[in-house]
Amino acid sequence: MDYFPFFMRLRGQRVLLVGGGDIATRKARLLLKAGATLNVVTLAIDNELEELVQNSGGSVQLREYQPCDLDNVVLAVAATDTASVNEQISADARARHLPVNVVDSPELCTVITPAIVDRSPLVIAISSGGEAPVLARMVRAKLERLLPASYGRLAGLASRFREAVKAKFTTGDQRRRFWERILEGPVAERVYAGQDAQADRLLEAELESARDEVGGEVYLVGGGPGDPELLTLKALRLMQQAEVVLYDRLVSNEVLELVRRDADRIYVGKKRSDHSMEQPAINQLLLDLAQQGKRVLRLKGGDPFIFGRGGEEIELLAENRIPFQVVPGITAASGCAAYAGIPLTHRDCAQSVRFITGHLKNDNPNLSWPELALPGQTLVFYMGLLGLEQIAHELVEHGRAPHTPVALVEKGTTSAQTVVVGELSNINTKVKERDIKGPTLIIVGEVVALRSRLDWFSAKA
Ligand code: SAH
Repeated sequence: MDYFPFFMRLRGQRVLLVGGGDIATRKARLLLKAGATLNVVTLAIDNELEELVQNSGGSVQLREYQPCDLDNVVLAVAATDTASVNEQISADARARHLPVNVVDSPELCTVITPAIVDRSPLVIAISSGGEAPVLARMVRAKLERLLPASYGRLAGLASRFREAVKAKFTTGDQRRRFWERILEGPVAERVYAGQDAQADRLLEAELESARDEVGGEVYLVGGGPGDPELLTLKALRLMQQAEVVLYDRLVSNEVLELVRRDADRIYVGKKRSDHSMEQPAINQLLLDLAQQGKRVLRLKGGDPFIFGRGGEEIELLAENRIPFQVVPGITAASGCAAYAGIPLTHRDCAQSVRFITGHLKNDNPNLSWPELALPGQTLVFYMGLLGLEQIAHELVEHGRAPHTPVALVEKGTTSAQTVVVGELSNINTKVKERDIKGPTLIIVGEVVALRSRLDWFSAKA
């Protein structure tokens, strides 16, 4: 992020605007909307601009810019078509640590103006840091279409009842929840329908009957294998609602970015031999937070019920009668297979698929190798990198053909996805030659060979 977004209060404040043409007029309109008092300095001025400034109690001086014009203003805006003047204003303002905006010259600016969606008091500012203004304007156009004009009135309603709601509820969480219910429910519908008085009455009734109590809940959500676009709509909605999130190592940064900004984030990551928090402690923490009335998001990589210990986490909640929801996610097997161009089943060569833990306890896995070595099935090993050599060895030992194709997918579905393809006889050597760290998924079976036929797929990986 190259610029930190702020909203600046300009009402009643003096702003210097140097320039008198079209661009200066556009800037003036925006600044006046925010209630600024304009001091315009220019050699020539458009009629419209002159009128705007005069009518709003500002001043116009028809002369060259002088550094003393920066006295007693909170912001300087340069909109002349003479580069040297713009540069001078920028340099003078910076020397005084005064925010300065030079139209169309991001390098001369300390503050830049965003594309704006105005549903006052709700205002959305969009910026590309000056890098892609057309894209920022496209986003604005999308938002303009998305947000009903009545959002401004909805924000007005929130403002009218702000104090009353504050008085009714003791904690910030309670207030937030009340508002979320109001702004997504029948009260908001009344506002959209233009029935503001009815909306007010309905809100008063809601406020009257609302109880000053909180009930926590837990959302056990599958965050998928990495690509944020693989999240379900439900996952995204609950990620936006939660007040605190417990996440682990497998949750990608891009997915975590989509959690509500002001939610508390607790890393409970687990890695082989590096348990930031032991499982019973995580279970207990979920319970404690919910009992404090929080809406808790337990965000897990892939699907919470596939090698995710999701079942254990909700057991304690169920015992304590804490409401919870479980949201499935795309498990690593589906994600990695799809993004690596490997169908997991195939009419001709794989009538079933198995998900297997490759986490071989005491290096002596309790797996039924004779069964796994049978043909006609695809095997997907989770957590199998360390045990790869042994897995390949056991499968061959128990009868699976040494030339059975194998794919190892690292960081599947992310931009760093790597696929190593080999056979049971050589996959371990091939993987050793590469710097593979994980997470990795191992797919064993004839279906892996189909990958080379799906050229347009493999080109991606
Ligand atoms: N609940 C998760 C699995 C947790 S077990 C799910 O449904 O996907 C952790 C293992 O999942 C890792 O060791 C690795 O084998 C696999 N895994 C998870 N994300 C992965 C990814 N993006 N690429 C490759 N393997 C992944």
